[in-house]
Amino acid sequence: MATMTIKRLHELLENNVDKDVLAWAGACHDCKNEAQVTATPKEDGIHIHGGSVYEPAANKFMIKCDTCFEKDPVLRDYQDCEVYSRVVGYLRPVAQWNDAKQAEFNDRKLYDPSIC
Ligand SMILES: [Zn+2]
Repeated sequence: MATMTIKRLHELLENNVDKDVLAWAGACHDCKNEAQVTATPKEDGIHIHGGSVYEPAANKFMIKCDTCFEKDPVLRDYQDCEVYSRVVGYLRPVAQWNDAKQAEFNDRKLYDPSIC
């Protein structure tokens, strides 16, 4: 779940010491600039300012600044991905390869059978 829902915001506000505002501060996931996002309950709903908040895992929050959110509202590349590939005859996670083999892996080209 990489989205924040209204239901979840209400739940967070209920459990927050300060029930008038929720605030997240830190580096924007995309541009790494400092960002601060606030969620304030008002009569017409919860007002979000400063960007957007994501919760890709329980209680793990990530933020995007307004500029990055406008460019791409989807949270991408937020978790490590283990890549397996063939090295000297068998499959192993690339992260466990030695430096020389990882360099060779990065030099590999993707084979496109449609251009044959
Ligand atoms: Zn940004």
